[in-house]
Amino acid sequence: MVVRQRGTGTTVRYFDDRERAAEIARQAVDRMAAEALPPTPDNFTIWYNYYSDQNPELRRAIDILHSNKQLFTPDRVEEIFRRFIGPDQHEETVQQTLLRLQAALASLATLLGEKSADAGRYSVVLNSFSGVLTQRPRLDDLRDALDQILLATEAMVEQNARLQTQLNASSAHMAELEHNLVRVRRESLTDPLTGLYNRKHFDASLSAAAAAAMESGQSLSLLMVDIDHFKLFNDRFGHIIGDHVLALVAQILTDCIKGRDTATRYGGEEFAIILPDTHLQDSVKVAEQIRTTVASRRVVNRSNNQRLGLITLSVGCAEYEPGEPLRALVHRADEALYAAKRAGRNRVEQRKTR
Ligand code: GH3
Ligand code: MG
Ligand code: MG
Repeated sequence: MVVRQRGTGTTVRYFDDRERAAEIARQAVDRMAAEALPPTPDNFTIWYNYYSDQNPELRRAIDILHSNKQLFTPDRVEEIFRRFIGPDQHEETVQQTLLRLQAALASLATLLGEKSADAGRYSVVLNSFSGVLTQRPRLDDLRDALDQILLATEAMVEQNARLQTQLNASSAHMAELEHNLVRVRRESLTDPLTGLYNRKHFDASLSAAAAAAMESGQSLSLLMVDIDHFKLFNDRFGHIIGDHVLALVAQILTDCIKGRDTATRYGGEEFAIILPDTHLQDSVKVAEQIRTTVASRRVVNRSNNQRLGLITLSVGCAEYEPGEPLRALVHRADEALYAAKRAGRNRVEQRKTR
């Protein structure tokens, strides 16, 4: 089984031992039976993940659905699969698409090869015609030669028309493949609820930012942002309103950053923001800006004008120490975040290396 390890940016393979795996599988099968779910591979994968405890976000999402008495309809199952297990599948689709693209290019190459063979035959006919001309031909010979050249030219024109049609079809096919590839890539890196980049993109983006910082000698900071008492909020107003709040917070994060900064949904109600060319003290200012903007919003449920109270965030800030493992940086930002929680929430804290 493949799980993402928090903070390390790496994918690790995890093998449950035989007995434990059998136990988890049994729980998964029992649960599918209890929920009257068909025993499909997708359902099994979800419930195996759920009971093996290796995918806490998936577990949390299912618990929320369950506590809200939501049914596990096929649509919902598909959504869960896509959100929490899907990225690797997306990867597979990308690979498949690339293979199809390669096949299309190969057939195009074959086609072009055939064309040049035809052109070769045509030039043989032309050469023999000029040979006939140099020998002061009789009129009959000339007419025969002209007939031949006419036939060959017609064949060439027809061949070219066929080639043109095939080329047009191939290029339309390739444009479609490319379009799909772009869409799948974007989807595989985006969190559908908030429209922010997802955790997978965070890992790639932080590595790239760290490499760029080492190369340029510029600074790099990281913010870990977590909504305060969000479980209570969901319990009071329901997870659908909770989802709207997540989208709202995501929008505020996006509005408060600029340029090369990257906001991502790290998981659940947690966000991570990568700030290139930013020292710790400036990252604290950005964090404060975000915190105060969110805290000053009066959030209202538009459907019934119910006031939803204040939403507050806790934020942890850390600066990259060139060369350090990225998990150390994430860990420091996380420590600062938990310090902010301990100190009473709705706060920004920072953690220095020394
Ligand atoms: P703290 O201030 O310590 O962060 O408390 P908390 O309740 O925010 O933290 P906790 O980790 O106990 O619970 C996080 C909650 O976030 C659990 C779950 O109800 C909610 N949550 C996570 N993901 C989603 C989501 O996608 N949608 C909704 N509506 N809620 C979510
Ligand atoms: Mg929270
Ligand atoms: Mg949290």
